[in-house]
Amino acid sequence: MNQTNLVVSLIQIFLPLVLAFLFVYKYVDIRTKTTHFVCPLCRSRFKLSKSQFAFALKTGALNERVVTCPACGYKGRMPIIKD
Ligand SMILES: [Zn+2]
Repeated sequence: MNQTNLVVSLIQIFLPLVLAFLFVYKYVDIRTKTTHFVCPLCRSRFKLSKSQFAFALKTGALNERVVTCPACGYKGRMPIIKD
């Protein structure tokens, strides 16, 4: 295998990964900008950062995540609410 083939195969492997990453990044970016959570305990409204949103546990229900309230520390299922 010569140098060009190696580069081409590397591109073929990494390009879809990079595109997938950019797609997810953009999706999370939009979701964090247009949604918020309301804590069921203290009623405070808060937004998640991109990384918090990306790693928030899915509960199986659509538009619901397991998140931690930054105000009172409560951790549990909260619906994703549009701003
Ligand atoms: Zn709270």
